Amino acid sequence: MSSERPCPVCLGRSYAHFTDERIDPARVGALTYASRKPPEFMCLRLVRCKDCDLVYAPPPPAEDFLHAAYSDADFDSGPEALAAAQTYADALRVHLPGLARRNAAVDVGAGTGPLLPFLQEQGFFPVIGIEPSRAAIEAAPPAARPLLREGMFSAAMLEGETLSLITSFMTLEHLRDPGEFVSTAHGLLEPGGAIAVVVHNWRAPLNRLLGPRSPIIDVEHLQLFSPRALHELLARTGFEHIALKPIRNAYPLRYWLRLTPLPASAKRLLLRLLERSGLADRQIAMNVGNMLAVGYKPEPSK
Ligand SMILES: [Zn+2]
Repeated sequence: MSSERPCPVCLGRSYAHFTDERIDPARVGALTYASRKPPEFMCLRLVRCKDCDLVYAPPPPAEDFLHAAYSDADFDSGPEALAAAQTYADALRVHLPGLARRNAAVDVGAGTGPLLPFLQEQGFFPVIGIEPSRAAIEAAPPAARPLLREGMFSAAMLEGETLSLITSFMTLEHLRDPGEFVSTAHGLLEPGGAIAVVVHNWRAPLNRLLGPRSPIIDVEHLQLFSPRALHELLARTGFEHIALKPIRNAYPLRYWLRLTPLPASAKRLLLRLLERSGLADRQIAMNVGNMLAVGYKPEPSK
């Protein structure tokens, strides 16, 4: 049993209760660790940091448990992953003119690489995706596969590259040490370069409404951010001009249905109705409580 960690964002030790642990070992399968999947309503004991507003698991699962879970995890390469990448690309696009240069762009937790073509179109070179799951890399489209590097994000993996942009979408919740991740990113970026992250916002109205039945309350999430906690994470590391905004996710209706906390039988019935009426693939954009943060590494003052 590991001892309690301090708040992984501000290192504070003063917290309030958030949720109790609920884990059913029989249901902890590979699917639990895929990034998009039916919610299973399992979670670790979570507390809320009184200093920075982060919600986190004080004793997170062991490192080897997490690593094994991610390298073997199932992944989603279907239309939902593409739709998510499109959403993130659209949210990111408006921030790119703020970048001084278009050297390397790195997407961390790249999956099958759906964001990489967008980064290439935007003129970054080279474009690199980092992904721990070999299965995801093997399933990547032929154009994306040579851009993907297998492993966990580290400075050693990117030696010799000059980085203008690091993106990481829906991965910070899964990391044992998000502070270390952001600080490694800051060290790797060239001055004037930017980090862009998308995370769930636990304070978003939908997540507050669903409470413990929200899909974000899940065993795979070691921490959950609010706008304040996310700003704190980037600011502490030295990022400046930090911009946060909610994003609207566009997905087919059939995917929204999967996310709802309805009983499986009700979902099957509704899905049949949607398919019969031809609405199942209709794209619907909604704010489901995700947010984008962009921060810039300062240029040295002259
Ligand atoms: Zn904190």
